[in-house]
Amino acid sequence: MSDRKNVYLFYKKTDELEEKVQKARELGRKYDFNLVEDPKDANIIASFGGDGTFLQALQKTRFREDALYIGVNDGDFGFYTDFTTSDLTRLELAMQSDMDMVEVLRYPTLEVTIDGLKSFHCINEVTIRSNIIKTFVVDVYLDNLHFETFRGDGLLVSTPTGSTAYNKSLGGAVVDPKLPAMQLTEMASVNNNQYRTLGSPLVLSKGRELTLKVVQDGNDHPIIGIDNEAMGIRHSRHINVKVSDRVVKTLKMKDNLFANKLKRSFLE
Ligand code: NAP
Ligand code: MN
Repeated sequence: MSDRKNVYLFYKKTDELEEKVQKARELGRKYDFNLVEDPKDANIIASFGGDGTFLQALQKTRFREDALYIGVNDGDFGFYTDFTTSDLTRLELAMQSDMDMVEVLRYPTLEVTIDGLKSFHCINEVTIRSNIIKTFVVDVYLDNLHFETFRGDGLLVSTPTGSTAYNKSLGGAVVDPKLPAMQLTEMASVNNNQYRTLGSPLVLSKGRELTLKVVQDGNDHPIIGIDNEAMGIRHSRHINVKVSDRVVKTLKMKDNLFANKLKRSFLE
């Protein structure tokens, strides 16, 4: 990051966090970084907070492919936050661009198109679910072939990095972020003699396309969630999901392997 030193800071402006961010600002000044007010002028976008803040930083800055994202946690490490305000030496190594210590990762994203019109990116998942008590019905197409008719609470399609989030709670597999893939998981599907779904998580490679068509049966006002935001679209009929060509570049410490993150979060 030697000659690209314009930094945009994304965080919730609380007194407690402000103090911690101030320390990082002072460090940045020492290494000749410039702060910018508009994320459009930034080459580096740093979020301070948890994984949720990192997700917000991406959505609010619209998944800039030409910027490097850095997640700084204000507590423990997270899946996207490889640095922490409680140990600024790690951040200092990153500012020195010590490539023996840090590495740029490229995380796959999903491209979600709603009703063929609006496109969004997500780095965790897209969900579609009923907003009323009744079950709702979705026709699932895989590469334009009618695959199954789902009836239940909803469906989720996750990225590899999102596989450790909501997807995991639904019994989905944890996927290595180096695999450009997407995973479809079910939320409480009805399976009986009338309705039949695959019933297990389905991992698909880049190049495939999922289409989820909401069956118009009266319960057809689903809530669509993209990462941690609900889309304010009321009458969506179908969504298309595929692994996008766009990746998110993020900085990580070389010592913090995927295996470390998994172990730290789920096994210790
Ligand atoms: P939240 O409800 O405050 O947090 C959900 C938890 O998931 C937090 O502990 C968050 O970490 C963690 N998380 C986020 N992305 C992750 C990832 N890729 N791998 C492992 N853990 C992850 O909401 P939020 O912080 O805004 O995060 C939004 C995410 O929450 C959604 O994208 C969805 O994946 C997840 N979610 C999960 C469920 C569920 O498991 N039943 C339900 C709804 C949403 P931080 O504390 O560091 O932010
Ligand atoms: Mn959170």
